[in-house]
Amino acid sequence: MRMMLIGWLVLIAAGTAMAQQSNPLPDAGFEDGAEAWSIHDSVSKVTAEAARSGKVGLRVGQDEYFAGGASVHSAQFAVEPGQTVSMSFWARAKQTNMGVYFMFFDADGRMTGKAINCPVTHKDGQWHQYTKSAEAPAGAKTVDLWVHTYAGAKGIVDLDDFTIGGLGDGVKALPAKQPRARKKQVTEKLDPDQVPRRKTPPIIVLKLDDVKQVGKTVHPRWQRVADYLEKRNIKSGFGVICKTLDGASPEYVQWLKSHHDRGLIEFWFHGWDHGVHEEDGTRYNEFKHRSYDEQMARLARSQKLAKDQLGFAFETFGPPGGVGNGSHDEITLRVMVDDPDLHVMLYPQPMDDAGRAAMASSNGRFVILGRVWAVGLEGAVGVPDFQRFLKGYAANMDRAYFTLQGHPAMWDDARFAQFEKIIDFLVQREAKFMTPTEAAAAVGR
Ligand SMILES: [Zn+2]
Repeated sequence: MRMMLIGWLVLIAAGTAMAQQSNPLPDAGFEDGAEAWSIHDSVSKVTAEAARSGKVGLRVGQDEYFAGGASVHSAQFAVEPGQTVSMSFWARAKQTNMGVYFMFFDADGRMTGKAINCPVTHKDGQWHQYTKSAEAPAGAKTVDLWVHTYAGAKGIVDLDDFTIGGLGDGVKALPAKQPRARKKQVTEKLDPDQVPRRKTPPIIVLKLDDVKQVGKTVHPRWQRVADYLEKRNIKSGFGVICKTLDGASPEYVQWLKSHHDRGLIEFWFHGWDHGVHEEDGTRYNEFKHRSYDEQMARLARSQKLAKDQLGFAFETFGPPGGVGNGSHDEITLRVMVDDPDLHVMLYPQPMDDAGRAAMASSNGRFVILGRVWAVGLEGAVGVPDFQRFLKGYAANMDRAYFTLQGHPAMWDDARFAQFEKIIDFLVQREAKFMTPTEAAAAVGR
């Protein structure tokens, strides 16, 4: 009896000490109503139904398509590069649609390194504990835990009883990352039938990015979108990353040529390699921060391959992106205006002075089609969002044309279904689908 009692006391003492040292995470079980957490989406909530222990837990996700996905951040903690941090949590799910990530931030509070996912893998509707360790990357000053359902994924998950460890003695919790200031999120759904009909339907350019050879032809998701648009007799523009034209398979060449010949798809120039280059620690997109000659060489090499392999030159350019400091500069505009075959640019942003100057310098030969941020196929890259599109469309009723950007290789079934809804709506509204060069001619008039 006495031995047992001593054993108990030791256990309790050890447990208490461990709890204090190994889990500095405030409100780790949400019993304070997620006070120390920051909920960035409009769906996640603390609720009794999500409790594993105590009175409440965290419930994230929804049963329908969730374009942005859940986003909940814990308190932050100071960390050193190379330091190993650990997490644990309990989750209950019926599908595999989410994970909890380590997210690292630099001295300016910007994300640094990759977010490291601890995915929820059980889908039996039972509680399971998950653990993960990770090393803080170079430049890391703080770390947090980020609860995230994948963009576009469906399904509800309950989470409770988080820990974070490896942070050293006496580490103090810092405030959680706050959502960026933005217009109040409108969460109510817009009914498509409530959107008034326009007097003149808009011109639509489907700007679909990143065609390249995969296997012998293209990714099956490109085949799917090409087949779908052909079946509906809808015109579009497919942006080609040209590097795989070098040594292309006969099948890939045939795929491009036959679709080009059928006239529904205009293939346009979307960069040589879509790569990112670095100078003095800053990363730039392919057509940014490079000399005229270097940019021209990338275009010329691509044009030559197109002519040799496909029998036509690209007439339209859309600059490849990747990093967030712009995807072209004024040199790019000169390069594109100077090419004898190119005469259309799908601008990655709303029209600006540089774009207007480029058009003026070409005496009207070169036409730039600007973007409207609010109106696109996708919210986040690769994640079509019908509701977002619809709200943007309804707020821009006087705009003559829209270029709608998408990344079909990233569209799984649920995402493709959102794309179909957008197309259905536009067809119903008698939108005029055009290739980029057709739209440029129409808008130019
Ligand atoms: Zn791209």
